[in-house]
Amino acid sequence: MNNETEKFLKRGLSTVKFEELKDKSFELILVVEMLCEVCEKPLSVKEKFLRKIPISIKEDYENLLTRAAAHDRAEADVENGKIYFYDHDFPGDVHPECLEKL
Ligand SMILES: [Zn+2]
Repeated sequence: MNNETEKFLKRGLSTVKFEELKDKSFELILVVEMLCEVCEKPLSVKEKFLRKIPISIKEDYENLLTRAAAHDRAEADVENGKIYFYDHDFPGDVHPECLEKL
């Protein structure tokens, strides 16, 4: 599957209902976007697999939403069984083209 298709399948977690996740397992993936100090756009992205969780009762879903609230944003790919948490970091680096503007 190419990235374009994957992007299309991802939806904001808050728009996904419990009924859509019920009785399935999801891989939790943390995505950290390394941002440029100048333009604050991504330099690179690091993905880290956290763990796999089953969603069976409403409480599992509520725990997931609570956990998601600690991150910048969260997206779900229900078809592929993945939930992405996004964070950002400033590694102290800049794009080469941004360096020229300084
Ligand atoms: Zn930049």
